[in-house]
Amino acid sequence: MKYQPVIGLETHVELKTESKMFCRCSADYFGQKPNTHTCLVCLGLPGALPVPNKKAIDWCAMIGLALNCEIPLFSKFDRKNYFYPDLPKGYQISQYDEPFGIDGYVDLSASRVSQVASRDSEERKAKSEKRIRIRRVHMEEDTGKLIHELADQRSKIKDQRSSFIDFNRSGVPLVEIVTEPDFDNAADVKEYLQKLQQIVRYLGVSNADMEKGEMRLEPNISLARRDSHVASRNHDKRIANSELPSYKVEIKNINSFRFVEKAINYEIERQAELLEKGETPVQETRGWDERSGKTVSQRTKEEAHDYRYFPEPDIPPIRFAQYQISKIKDQIGELPDQKLKRFQTEYKLTPYDAEILTRELALADYFEEAVRTGKAHNVAPKQIANYIINKKLNIKETAPSELVELILTTAQVISVGSEELRKAIEQVILENPKAVEDYKSGKTQAIGFLIGKVKSLLPPKSSTDKIKEQIEQALK
Ligand code: ADP
Ligand code: MG
Ligand code: ZN
Repeated sequence: MKYQPVIGLETHVELKTESKMFCRCSADYFGQKPNTHTCLVCLGLPGALPVPNKKAIDWCAMIGLALNCEIPLFSKFDRKNYFYPDLPKGYQISQYDEPFGIDGYVDLSASRVSQVASRDSEERKAKSEKRIRIRRVHMEEDTGKLIHELADQRSKIKDQRSSFIDFNRSGVPLVEIVTEPDFDNAADVKEYLQKLQQIVRYLGVSNADMEKGEMRLEPNISLARRDSHVASRNHDKRIANSELPSYKVEIKNINSFRFVEKAINYEIERQAELLEKGETPVQETRGWDERSGKTVSQRTKEEAHDYRYFPEPDIPPIRFAQYQISKIKDQIGELPDQKLKRFQTEYKLTPYDAEILTRELALADYFEEAVRTGKAHNVAPKQIANYIINKKLNIKETAPSELVELILTTAQVISVGSEELRKAIEQVILENPKAVEDYKSGKTQAIGFLIGKVKSLLPPKSSTDKIKEQIEQALK
């Protein structure tokens, strides 16, 4: 293509603090009866005073630190003025020029192992060096939620299309993470977002569930002429700020990682067609419509000065002492990238296995617990990894020690039975921990159940005696 996509991302993440950002209402609003988690402050009634949530501020700084940001010692809140029914105050408390985190980055290299395997090595090398700069990480409050539906039968306006407002979400702590326009393709955007989600989950500050709206993303997209930046590229593939296209299109309403790729790719094509015709795409906000697979114009994009930002007069500036920032840093455990590397070196796992096992902190912890238990029985970490990954083990149902036992058991069966029988028994033992435990604790009749299960996996004429003998062996 003649054009190089230029993409920057604004991502919102809801923090899972107990209370809201500026009042004491519960922030746990999902699925609650509308307008039951509200007070004078989060309803935006005149004269109500906001009191900042310290934990939310600390967590915002923690996200900044995890994204390699600098945390300035001085920050403040600002009012972002605009009118919309979900924001009765007429302004949102946000941060403008002094955010909690600035100048960070996320590297896409470490986690792209599984995705790049098929690409040629030249490209892989280039890709593996990709660093996405984080411009800022700031704190703000969420707004109320508009619900569009038919009015209730009992109301005066029954059957009419109406909009309702639920203020339970109003004032929930929201962290916005803004990247520089460093992406040039949709796959990298998706990877960045997955990584961001993984990091905030590791930190334990947000569930970042996109379906619940706990993580919301807005890509900004424009197209630069390839030749306009090639000369200045050198080692750096990024486009210099002075060479950025003069317009950008922001896309809203994207609520899954799959849609973000589709929306970006659609938008790239749409803009390329306009540029081909000699037109410049309009700077605007567009919404992703999943049904048509298109983006549709929503409104022309406002500029920062339209919001008439000014310092929030009801909240004094926030000053961090260096030791407070260090303390927050100390609370950050091992992050996904470090864990991924350590799992490969310490446990001799393949990048692929390590990647799967570190995707979620709970699974990584489970694996390490099993490795510790297994060590005493000479069970290698690799065996444990294989078991967890290949058997799609449900870690909530099998304790790490049980897993180790299972592996030892299976090893015995290998030496006695035929391959097919062994596999069947292995599967049944894994899927029926309750019956296995019953049998082991002396309820020998439980073996009948297990035999039945094994038989159902084998050819009809399989000998019951043989199966029974093998199960007994396995569970000895
Ligand atoms: P706004 O004030 O309109 O929100 P910002 O300068 O804050 O604009 O940038 C918002 C996002 O848009 C950032 O992620 C930034 O990297 C990205 N961005 C800026 N310029 C461009 C561009 N020309 N094309 C694509 N994205 C851009
Ligand atoms: Mg913006
Ligand atoms: Zn409240």
